[in-house]
Amino acid sequence: MTITDLHCDRCDRFISEPAAGVRFVYHPGRAQFRDSSGLLCARCWDELELWLGPDRPLRRCAVCREEVTREQSLHLHRVDDAQSWRLCAPHAVEFLNRLRTVEPKLDPVTFRFPAQE
Ligand SMILES: [Zn+2]
Ligand SMILES: [Zn+2]
Repeated sequence: MTITDLHCDRCDRFISEPAAGVRFVYHPGRAQFRDSSGLLCARCWDELELWLGPDRPLRRCAVCREEVTREQSLHLHRVDDAQSWRLCAPHAVEFLNRLRTVEPKLDPVTFRFPAQE
């Protein structure tokens, strides 16, 4: 893994030391779409974790509790903690669109997860 951008993916704050940031991974249930380059400053990560909530139900969106399947949800976890939160399509779009590096922004109306079951 090469780390080229040491800025928070939300607020653009420069992360001067590893302890000041949290690296995270996300993918839609399939390894080939895995993105392991996520980086947030500690403050933005704390905010994100508040939004996601403390528990990580296996087949439900962490935010709205909608039931999701493995390939019709976004899996999100810290690099140093493999247990994922799941996000349904609307909440995946909300999460992804808040990342600076997600360009162009996703349209919640046309967004689909890549795998069709
Ligand atoms: Zn930040
Ligand atoms: Zn949801």
